Amino acid sequence: MEAPTLGGMRVRKGNGETVRLSRGSSLTDFAEKIGLDAASLVQMLFHLGEMVTATQSVGDETLELLGEELNYVVEVVSPEDEDRELLESFDLEFGADEGDEDDLVIRPPVVTVMGHVDHGKTKLLDALRGANVVAGEAGGITQHIGAYQVHTTVDGIDRRISFIDTPGHEAFTAMRARGSQSSDIAILVVAADDGVMPQTVEALNHAKAAGVPIVVAVNKIDKPEADPTKVRGQLTEYGLVPEEYGGEAMFVDVSAKAGLNLDKLLEAVVLTADASLDLRANPTQDAQGLVVEAHLDRGRGPVATILVQRGTLRVGDSIVAGPAYGRVRAMLDEHGDELTEADPGRPAMVLGLSAVPGAGQNFIVVEDDRMARQIAEKREARERAALQAKRRVRRTLEDFMASMEKGESQELNLILKGDVSGSVEALEDALAALEVGDEVALRVIDRGVGAITEANVNLAAASDAIIIGFNVRAQGKAAELADREGVEIKYYSVIYQAIEEIEAALKGMLKPEYEESTLGQAEIRAIFRSSKIGNIAGCMVIGGVLRRNAKVRVLRDGAVVADNLDLASLKREKDDASEVREGFECGLVLRNFQDIKEGDIVEAFEMKEIPRG
Ligand code: GDP
Repeated sequence: MEAPTLGGMRVRKGNGETVRLSRGSSLTDFAEKIGLDAASLVQMLFHLGEMVTATQSVGDETLELLGEELNYVVEVVSPEDEDRELLESFDLEFGADEGDEDDLVIRPPVVTVMGHVDHGKTKLLDALRGANVVAGEAGGITQHIGAYQVHTTVDGIDRRISFIDTPGHEAFTAMRARGSQSSDIAILVVAADDGVMPQTVEALNHAKAAGVPIVVAVNKIDKPEADPTKVRGQLTEYGLVPEEYGGEAMFVDVSAKAGLNLDKLLEAVVLTADASLDLRANPTQDAQGLVVEAHLDRGRGPVATILVQRGTLRVGDSIVAGPAYGRVRAMLDEHGDELTEADPGRPAMVLGLSAVPGAGQNFIVVEDDRMARQIAEKREARERAALQAKRRVRRTLEDFMASMEKGESQELNLILKGDVSGSVEALEDALAALEVGDEVALRVIDRGVGAITEANVNLAAASDAIIIGFNVRAQGKAAELADREGVEIKYYSVIYQAIEEIEAALKGMLKPEYEESTLGQAEIRAIFRSSKIGNIAGCMVIGGVLRRNAKVRVLRDGAVVADNLDLASLKREKDDASEVREGFECGLVLRNFQDIKEGDIVEAFEMKEIPRG
């Protein structure tokens, strides 16, 4: 293979060796790894038709393409792998228990409550939490810290269960989007008066995809129209067969409102855990786990609710949580009581971190503050770089057209949030009524009343959805998170406007039709040869206008000799010009075409999209 040359410049090629680059690396990062100067990579990429700056973060494909060109095998390292390597470099490992079998002790299951909207998830979480408050305990008030633990007695033995206190599969998805699994068991809530609904199925699929056993809470059995048998029949059709029908899933009829059978539900969770899971952890090692929720508290600074997965977390431990680090200054449980230690399966609110970590990020106890800071700083730098790359790949409403052109996305996922349920329904109905043909699909994957939350953003990020806010705004850190995750949030206050834009985007998802429109012509009067930039054509614009980013063709004696070319540059005098009008001289360079002659006509045109009726 010959060395690629650029205007006479020779670029040293590799011998097929592997270069490891983090996702979101820049050309400067790449150049450093292979001992080239970044400018030559910029130029090379430019030659390949992409224009980026040396420090700009570029996508995986670009890095790989460039690698191929230079005869290197580029290996883009995922953030997860990289993090593992980072921890390894400090002799740490996340995710595995230390020691052997004898060191493992049974730990409580961690449970997520999922199900269709209004089927009683929140009510059930509240009821379970409330029913478990030991009489006389600190006024009996529990706080929402994102997770809580309850006790129940099964076969005369006291057992504990930890609940993730965010209803819905959003929290679940957020964790999974980060590659971590927080929950061991899912409680699927189905209202007995309503039966299986779309989000029931969605939740079921989420749990199945994660390989998490399901316990079904058939709720609202206090209602006269409740039909728990029907729910069993419906779920059987989805492959979730009740034990009493010979299947594996435990179904418990409950009423969150009346507090009926809550103990039976807890028992079912424990029995399911015992039957199908081996939930044990080493409580004696340094603690590790996940961040469930975190926020910035005005008085206390960053506050994170963590879930210990293995080891025991103690006040005074040095920890790293995502890009945050610090020493555990204090730990509180869901009753606001101070904890001195938290064992596996225990959620706890931790004070003392340097920053607010994200939900789903892991935490790990390390030797000392210095190590914690070093790891956190490396992670932070990496997150920043990865963010830039991510920003470029995530979708915006406008991007849909482009991705459709490439034959990619034919599904527009939306999350609708509105001020009142009426407006959300109206919006959803109107969207459902849109006629856009069979080629593209619009899917409302979640809807709800109230501000746009972090959970909404996480779900959007996990399912590549766009969030529509109708008369509501993003709450708290949701906007920041959306920005970080590259999730687009569109705000509207007029329904038809929202509909119009979405309709336009959907139509854009249909393959756009284009027609050509001629912009202008220039005659080549002189040619200057440059070894560096190629042949420069000195032209006179003889009609219309030449635009820098227009497409051009070359005509010779009325015949087309080259078509659909790009301009590599367009200059007036010495300056770059975005356009040059009739009667003016200009200098231009054609990309990938050097065979020009005096007297040739350069015709500029653009492809205009024909609006769909
Ligand atoms: P979520 O959207 O799934 O979190 O549902 P909520 O917990 O907000 O409950 C929706 C509505 O159903 C509320 O008005 C609750 O009071 C009501 N609800 C929840 N559980 C029960 C129940 O067991 N019986 C009755 N009758 N109503 C319930």
